[in-house]
Amino acid sequence: MILYEQEELEYLDRRALEALQLLRLKKVIACALATPFYSERLNGVGIKHPEDMSCLEDLQKIPFTTKDDLRDTYPFGLLAVDKEAVVRMHASSGTTGKPTVIYYSREDLSRWTQLTTRSLIATGCGPKDVFQNMMTYGLFTGGLGLHYGAEDLGMFVIPSSGGNTKRQIQLMHDFGTTVVHATPSYMLHLHSQIVESGLPLSEFKVKKALIGAEPHSEDLRQKIETLFGIDAYNSYGLSEMNGPSVAFECIHKKGMHLWEDAYCIEIVDRNKLTPLADGEVGELVLTNLIRHASPILRYRTKDLTRIIPGSCDCGRTARRVDRMMGRTDDMLIINGVNVFPSQIEEVIMKIPEAGNNYRILVRKKGTLDVLIVQLEVAPAVLTDDTRDLYALKARLGDALKASISINPAVEFHEPGQLPVQEGKAIRVVDERGNLY
Ligand code: AMP
Ligand code: ZN
Repeated sequence: MILYEQEELEYLDRRALEALQLLRLKKVIACALATPFYSERLNGVGIKHPEDMSCLEDLQKIPFTTKDDLRDTYPFGLLAVDKEAVVRMHASSGTTGKPTVIYYSREDLSRWTQLTTRSLIATGCGPKDVFQNMMTYGLFTGGLGLHYGAEDLGMFVIPSSGGNTKRQIQLMHDFGTTVVHATPSYMLHLHSQIVESGLPLSEFKVKKALIGAEPHSEDLRQKIETLFGIDAYNSYGLSEMNGPSVAFECIHKKGMHLWEDAYCIEIVDRNKLTPLADGEVGELVLTNLIRHASPILRYRTKDLTRIIPGSCDCGRTARRVDRMMGRTDDMLIINGVNVFPSQIEEVIMKIPEAGNNYRILVRKKGTLDVLIVQLEVAPAVLTDDTRDLYALKARLGDALKASISINPAVEFHEPGQLPVQEGKAIRVVDERGNLY
């Protein structure tokens, strides 16, 4: 039974798959050439026309694209179509104040939806399922991304978005949710809150969880599966490559199929940036083959993984990537939200009362992550009226929330109280352990 129109794309043999990739790449190159940024870059390596791409290997001539390139071209420098053709944008944290923005035309969205529908099918979801989408709806791609695929598949969709755990539990319970989509850390929190609510797990119908947006270990997956008595499937995506459904596990749970008809995969040495063979761990570099409004070529994801050699028992031909094993940069993921330490520093530097030293702590409180910003402040601030101190804390808290979308705990310290290193300052202390 064909559940969605492009099912055959999942089973193409290598030759047919690569022919399709080249065809799609040429279209994306045509779009990229319409932007000043890429036309300069592509012309610089002799690509002036899509037909200058004679084979997939020609991709290697093109320089990598980074988050900084997206920031430098903010807001519209990478837009390849008329603004009227854009129907949606999404955004993710940049390394500093400016987010990285992605645009989608109607056709781009429909091609992305095809991938999310396919990913849901790969995990065994179907029209009879009740799908509760606990990922945040908004600029973050996690919520809306899977939403439309689930609707297209005919699932009963509960767009509950992130947070408000009591309401999530009530919805799950009363509407017989069978599939949930959440971050792994939220799944643990959800479980602890269900236990606290006193509702017996036997009154819930949940069978599957789709977990992603943040690093987690195989042990953590198994813990979620055992606690709920369900199957949990790893889902990987990033906004620069549309969002969720870049790579998804199938029912065999042996790595995530990276949908190669939609993305060209490269794994490169994390330092030399040279290509690595299947099985070797390096940085994942991706080219989006299906989005025309925001073409992105050879994007350095900064995520470390490897291609799992061999084929999958499900018969799908898209190669699989292993669960993400870390990042090559300092990006933190706090309860699914990306935070760069540089964003925090930028805010601190604008506070005149700030002293010379600060530290960022990340801890677990129960099952959730907490972010603590410790800051040395001028002695006068600490001896002053406590109301001023509270006001300063609130001001800093608000500024941080505006920049990183998280309200961290703020601690003030006297000058000289925070540890100082002789060499490179250690600004971030991540005490969560065992994320990968
Ligand atoms: P965003 O663009 O805000 O969606 O963030 C994308 C980043 O989240 C990726 O580059 C990864 O670092 C991280 N991420 C997303 N899904 C996963 C996953 N399943 N496992 C580990 N990290 C993930
Ligand atoms: Zn498979």
